[in-house]
Amino acid sequence: MRERGSEPVWGEIFALLEAFAAEHELPSVSLIGRDAGGRAEAEPAEAEASAEASAKAEADAPFLILISTVISLRTRDEVTLASSRRLFEQASTPGQMLCLSRERIEELIYPCGFYRMKAGNILEISRRILEEHGGRVPSTLSELLAFPGVGLKTANLVLGLGFGIPAICVDTHVHRIANRMGWIQTVKPDDSAAALEGVLPREYWIPVNRLLVLFGQNVCGPGRPWCSRCPLGDYCPQMGVEAFR
Ligand code: SF4
Repeated sequence: MRERGSEPVWGEIFALLEAFAAEHELPSVSLIGRDAGGRAEAEPAEAEASAEASAKAEADAPFLILISTVISLRTRDEVTLASSRRLFEQASTPGQMLCLSRERIEELIYPCGFYRMKAGNILEISRRILEEHGGRVPSTLSELLAFPGVGLKTANLVLGLGFGIPAICVDTHVHRIANRMGWIQTVKPDDSAAALEGVLPREYWIPVNRLLVLFGQNVCGPGRPWCSRCPLGDYCPQMGVEAFR
């Protein structure tokens, strides 16, 4: 087990996390990003697609990632994926989205949490992208945060997965595991992005969310983590862990 206070060995830790992730299904928003041709999740084969198809995928991906992340808030991963795919079969651009009624969007994304409020936000985001940003999702943090229903977590996920701009998306899994691993010492998830920016090498800012979400869902969950079967056991001081399996 890693001594408390010693420096993390980032390369070895992330190699183990990538090996773990290779054996598991991607989180829902990462899957949407990959399907849509998002820059951070594109498969190597996609690089061989035609220039026109690649350009269209790159243009569409930030919008699909943004909307699926809005849908994902307080919603289980499998529900997010199914809701997003139902919606995107009907509308995958801001213009197409505005052709749907609010009630129709509610039907398509149900049963995700807060589906009525999210349907209204999806329409408002689509309208503002068309009217204020020329039909393209903006690529700055301040512009993304100005959209209804978009907080730091969503904005950073769109920057990373949609545009390939290094940004750390902190959700409950990233916050919990980064603290248990002793990388940061924070109480609130809202403080963890800035804390991680101070310690985590930039090359890991985009993949850290995908990797720790998978890891949190399967090994280092809330409650008692599975430390006995954890591939990161040698690197983890188990900060704050009072009981484990
Ligand atoms: S499962 Fe246990 S050993 Fe593994 S990262 Fe979580 S707290 Fe650390």
